[in-house]
Amino acid sequence: MISTGQKIAITRVERSRLKETDLDNVVFGRVFSDHMFVMDYQNGQWQQPTIVPYAKMQMSPASLVLHYCQTIFEGLKAYRTSTGGAALFRPQMNIERMNRSAERMCMPQIPEDVFMDGLKALVELDSDWIPGGDEGALYIRPLLYASDEYIGVRPSEGYRLLIFTCPVRGYYKEEVRVKIETEYSRAFPGGTGEAKCGGNYAASLYPAKLAADEGYHQLLWTDGETHQYFEESGTMNVFFRIDDTLITPETSGTILHGVTRDSIIRIAEHEKIPCEVRRVSVREVVDALKEGRLKAAFGAGTAATIAHIRSIAYEGVNYDLPPVDQRNLSNRIGKMLDEIRRGRIADPFGWMVPVK
Ligand SMILES: *Cc1c(COP(=O)(O)O)cnc(C)c1O
Repeated sequence: MISTGQKIAITRVERSRLKETDLDNVVFGRVFSDHMFVMDYQNGQWQQPTIVPYAKMQMSPASLVLHYCQTIFEGLKAYRTSTGGAALFRPQMNIERMNRSAERMCMPQIPEDVFMDGLKALVELDSDWIPGGDEGALYIRPLLYASDEYIGVRPSEGYRLLIFTCPVRGYYKEEVRVKIETEYSRAFPGGTGEAKCGGNYAASLYPAKLAADEGYHQLLWTDGETHQYFEESGTMNVFFRIDDTLITPETSGTILHGVTRDSIIRIAEHEKIPCEVRRVSVREVVDALKEGRLKAAFGAGTAATIAHIRSIAYEGVNYDLPPVDQRNLSNRIGKMLDEIRRGRIADPFGWMVPVK
């Protein structure tokens, strides 16, 4: 573990914007809490960690990140607990994943202790921004980017780590209609599919737009070489339930290691629900669809937790899945995950990390 042991310098807002914010009606990703964490990397070293009022920043047109996309991010959530405090869901997983992404993108490792302290201090300071109710949470966005003012393809020397937060409510309200993508690819062996880096998302916009034009909410990505095996769905990992078994593609370098995915696998083990982590072929799922053995399919990610898939299209044919109220297995897992996060049931895994 890399550590700097540095204390965070905190500058609070003079006046909170909370009073003029309608937390009951926030749109995902559009409302930002009062403060942000900022820490720069210069001259081969991390500088003083700070928390300052959330504000716009100045940037040079020659900022390296704007041209060559040397940037990575994370996404995690803090929840209000039943005792009124706030807790982070498995933050260590995000810290480690961010450092793996940093390695792949030639960026400096972030000291784990400063990162964790920053997350906790920020959420504690803005904990009043966590909306109440069953779906409220504080979405936390860590971001690391190349800050050099330089035109040329090489790793930056300077970087900025930001962490800011958004009060959020539910994400996908409706079930999603997806299409199996067999032409475009999100990732390929030796590429950056496993890193949460900005370029991956830019590259996925066009195929997603083509699918949206045909009326689909999202793509089911297949492998870049043969398009015969499933990888993920949009920005979520994907699970299928065939008969009574949950199946999710193995992570083999092209799939993001989702924290939600891992949590679902762990819950399935705990609940003795058969769950297989392996290659899943398009053929297997399409056959199961035709035979009525595909009982459920869903995307899994921090933003939506579980996004039920309503229909899957393959080679121009649309296959419907059973109604969501019949999907007892995925509903049960989703509910359990949610109740652990909100401190309503025991947390047998030790996943929740209080911010104080
Ligand atoms: C972030 C992300 C996920 C989900 O990861 P979680 O840790 O569960 O939020 C899955 N796939 C992609 C491509 C992602 O960017």
